[in-house]
Amino acid sequence: MSTAAHVVVVGAGVTGLLTAVACARAGHRVTVLERGPLPNPDATSHDQHRALRTLLPGDPDGTARRLAAHRHWEDLETLFGTPLHRRVGTLTAHPAERVDALLAEAAGAGVPVDLPAPDALPPLGLPPGTVGVRERTGGVLLADRVLRAAARWLTARPGVALRPHSTVRSVFTGSGRIVLDTGEVLRGDLALLAGGPWTRRLADSPVTLYRQTMLYLGRPDGAVVGGSGPGDSGSSPGGDRWDDAPAAGGLGRAGRGWVLPPGAGTLLKLSSDTVCRPVADTDSRGEDQQPYLDRLAAEGVLPDLERYPVAGVRVCHYTADTATGGPLLTRVSPGLWTRAACGGSGFSTAPLVAERIAEAVKEEA
Ligand SMILES: Cc1cc2nc3c(=O)[nH]c(=O)nc-3n(C[C@H](O)[C@H](O)[C@H](O)COP(=O)(O)OP(=O)(O)OC[C@H]3O[C@@H](n4cnc5c(N)ncnc54)[C@H](O)[C@@H]3O)c2cc1C
Repeated sequence: MSTAAHVVVVGAGVTGLLTAVACARAGHRVTVLERGPLPNPDATSHDQHRALRTLLPGDPDGTARRLAAHRHWEDLETLFGTPLHRRVGTLTAHPAERVDALLAEAAGAGVPVDLPAPDALPPLGLPPGTVGVRERTGGVLLADRVLRAAARWLTARPGVALRPHSTVRSVFTGSGRIVLDTGEVLRGDLALLAGGPWTRRLADSPVTLYRQTMLYLGRPDGAVVGGSGPGDSGSSPGGDRWDDAPAAGGLGRAGRGWVLPPGAGTLLKLSSDTVCRPVADTDSRGEDQQPYLDRLAAEGVLPDLERYPVAGVRVCHYTADTATGGPLLTRVSPGLWTRAACGGSGFSTAPLVAERIAEAVKEEA
């Protein structure tokens, strides 16, 4: 393979687009095949926000990888010249007796944390006996803005072909040949299948498909909305304390609920791992969401949930490694890689996949 390789990326979600960016920056020719418009509103990545977390208790290597991902996000923000990230931190409820050990672990890993007073936060359903530990790094990635900014950057880049409405029908895993539904056949020096939860249709992998129901909320009744710029700290005279609120997890009676705060034009979003269920396919038409919404309401993720106007409900899918429940990036054969599963942190860690694929192009040269 010559120094400048041809990389084919299937799927223009965050994984595909950031991989295309990394490969184009390394001087390679890149073709991105996306079955829908680009960005595609049906992609898992196409949402208002995704959490950018740092600390993985008991997993120093994982924490180090996430710190590396943070540096990539800073770099991408500079490259794209647009804000992608609200630096509001992330708060997780931990059992009080574990907090000292956690603070020591965070200090050792170089992750700044603090314990905000409850009255400095909006009302959150911290389970009894827990303490909210806030990581000052991380916060909220403005997901759909990331996709738009990456697509814009790629459009202007010589050597990059963005091909919306190009559905890949099949992939020969031995030869790496990619067949479009028009019958056109492509073969790059390296290909990445990054079709999100639909990747499993193209290459067999041991993954489980999950569906999750998410609830979007307006500001609580009577609150006055603050500023609208990313990282905006505009005050809210109504005093709802959401303006600079962190993303929060470990909430509700089961300790499995989470919220992403409103800001920079996004809504407040709420869900819980308890409404995440394995499913056979991504077709959720005809599925009644009410039982899942009832379960979310009963969990106490936000203790005063009735004060928040409901702005929308969305169903979303992701795949996880059946054995570990985590992500999966696999080299299927020489020159063919799949992002078979993204797990629950696939958005924030996409720059690490992009970096790995750019390295693989060099290795396979
Ligand atoms: C409810 C929920 C909450 C989440 N929260 C977080 C979070 O807080 N933090 C975090 O980091 N991650 C989170 N994630 C995970 C994250 O959103 C995903 O891992 C990530 O967006 C996956 O991106 P992707 O690019 O791999 O796939 P996708 O975004 O799904 O993109 C795949 C693209 O491939 C295209 N495609 C599929 N098949 C074909 C084909 N045959 N031919 C051509 N194109 C094709 C699709 O149209 C799509 O545009 C969450 C996921 C869910 C479901």
